Amino acid sequence: MAGLMNGEHVDIYVNGKLRPAHSRTRIPVVNPADEQEFALIPDGDKDDVCAAVEAAREAFEKSGWPQLPPSKRANHLHKLARAIEKRAEQLGAIVTAQIGMPLTISVLSNGVGTSRYYDYYAELADQLEVESERFGHGLRTIVRREPVGVAGLIVPWNGPQGAIAWKLAPALAAGCTTVIKPSPEASLDSYLLAEALDEAGIPPGVVNIVFGGRETGSLLACHPGVDKVSFTGSTRAGRQVALACAERFARLTLELGGKSGALLLDDADLNTFLPLVASTCIPFSGQICHALTRVIAPRARYEEVVDGIAAKIAGLVVGHPLDPATQVGPLVARRQRDRVEEYIASGCREGARVVTGGGRPEGLDAGYYIQPTVFRDVDSAMSIAQQEIFGPVISVIPYDNDEEALAICNGTTYGLGGAVFTSNPQRGMAIARRIAAGVVGINRYTLHIDAPFGGVKGSGLGRELGPEGLATFLETKSILPPS
Ligand code: NAD
Repeated sequence: MAGLMNGEHVDIYVNGKLRPAHSRTRIPVVNPADEQEFALIPDGDKDDVCAAVEAAREAFEKSGWPQLPPSKRANHLHKLARAIEKRAEQLGAIVTAQIGMPLTISVLSNGVGTSRYYDYYAELADQLEVESERFGHGLRTIVRREPVGVAGLIVPWNGPQGAIAWKLAPALAAGCTTVIKPSPEASLDSYLLAEALDEAGIPPGVVNIVFGGRETGSLLACHPGVDKVSFTGSTRAGRQVALACAERFARLTLELGGKSGALLLDDADLNTFLPLVASTCIPFSGQICHALTRVIAPRARYEEVVDGIAAKIAGLVVGHPLDPATQVGPLVARRQRDRVEEYIASGCREGARVVTGGGRPEGLDAGYYIQPTVFRDVDSAMSIAQQEIFGPVISVIPYDNDEEALAICNGTTYGLGGAVFTSNPQRGMAIARRIAAGVVGINRYTLHIDAPFGGVKGSGLGRELGPEGLATFLETKSILPPS
C-alpha cells in the first residue's frame, strides 16, 4: 500500500496480470488537500486498449465464464465482496489522497458500501434463469438471456470503487468479460481492485483495467471489439461516447450529469428537510451527480427557507479530509475550483445574492477549498440554476404556485433526480409522478440498491442498480423449437 501512495506506476492489468503499459506517457496524481503531486499513472495508448480488449474477447470466447451457471459466478462475486471489504481502509485512504473525499466517508463508500453491490448482484445471479419457456397463441418459445459480450466500463473520479461496482458487479453476474477505464484523478485504488480480483479467483481476462485519460476512454468506446459501453461521466463526454457506439450499434448505458431539484411545497415540514440539506444538496462538496443543488421554495415561506438552509450550510466544518471533524473537504482539482468560482461570479453578475459562503475559507492556504455557498433571489433562467456546477453551491429559487414550481423543477436540460417535501404524502406522490427525472424522493432522498437509478433527457440513457442494472448486460434470444 505504501508503494501505491507514491512513485511512478507503469502497469496496467491485463489477462489477470499487472504488466507495463506500452505507453510511456504518464499522468500526475495530485492530492487536492495540499496540491502536491505524489504519484504518476500510465496514460494508456491504443496498444494498451487493444491488449485489454483482446484479453477480454479471448476470455469471452474461451474461458468458459459466460457459460458458467450463474450461481458459480455468484460465488466469485461474493468472494470479490469479501476481498474488497478486507481492503476497505486502504481503498478509503488512497481515494482520499486522490480526490479529497473525507476519510470516514471514503472508507465506508469504497469499502463496505462497494462490497454490497457485489453481494447484491451475486444474489441476482443466483436467481437468474438463463432459459425460460413461454407459451402463447399455441406456440412454444424458449427465451434465453445471454451476456452481451465484452463490456467497456468507463467511470468518473467522484466515487471510484462504487461507480465501478455499479457496472462490474452486474456485468460479471451476466457473464460478460470487461475492460475498466478508471478516471485519471482516481486510478490508484484500482490497483487494489486488481489484487482483490486475483484473490476472488476471477479467471484471467474476465476483468482488465487500463489507465488513462479522455483519449484512452475514447479508444475504448470506439473499439470494434467492445460490444457494450457503460459510461458514467459528464453529459458532454457521454454524447461523444454515444456517437462512437452508434457507429457500430454497440449497446450503451449512460449515467450523466444532473441539476436536480428539491421542491418544497407550501406545507413542507422544514424539520424534515433542513436536517437533510448538507447530505442531499451538497454531498461530497456537491461533487455528486444526483445532488439536489436547486431548492425550489414557496415565495410565502422564502425567507424562512433561505435562513434555514443558510444556517445549516454556514455551520459545516470545512477542513482537511483526514481530519475526522471535517464535513466538507477540498474540491478534486484546481480546474474544478476555478469552475466553481466562475459560476459563483456568474451568479452575482446575473443578480443572485450570496447568503453564505462565496469565497475561499480562511486558514486553508493550500488545497482546492471553497466555502459551501447559498444563493438567494435566483431566477430559473440563470446559469447557476441551469448548469451543473459540481461544487458546494445551492440555488434557492422562489415560486408562486405548484404549476410554476413544477415548471421550474423540470425546466433544465437534465433529469437525473429530484425530491418533493410536503406534509401530505398523497400530494407528494402526485407531484413526484410529474417530476421529469429517473429517481424522485418524497420527504427523503437516499439511493437504494434495489431502486433502478439513471436519468432522462441530458442525464443519460438506461438504468443501473436493481434488476434493471443486470438486464443491461444481457441480450435476449428467442429460440423457436419445432412444434
Ligand atoms: P468526465 O466526463 O470528464 O470523465 C468521465 C470518464 O470518462 C473519465 O474516465 C474520463 O477519462 C472519460 N472520458 C472523458 N471524455 C471521454 C470521451 N470522449 N470518450 C470516452 N471516455 C471519456 O467526467 P468527470 O469529470 O470524471 O466526472 C464528473 C461528471 O460525471 C459530472 O458531470 C457528473 O454529474 C457525472 N457523474 C454522473 C453520475 C451518474 O450516475 N449519473 C455519477 C457520477 C458522476
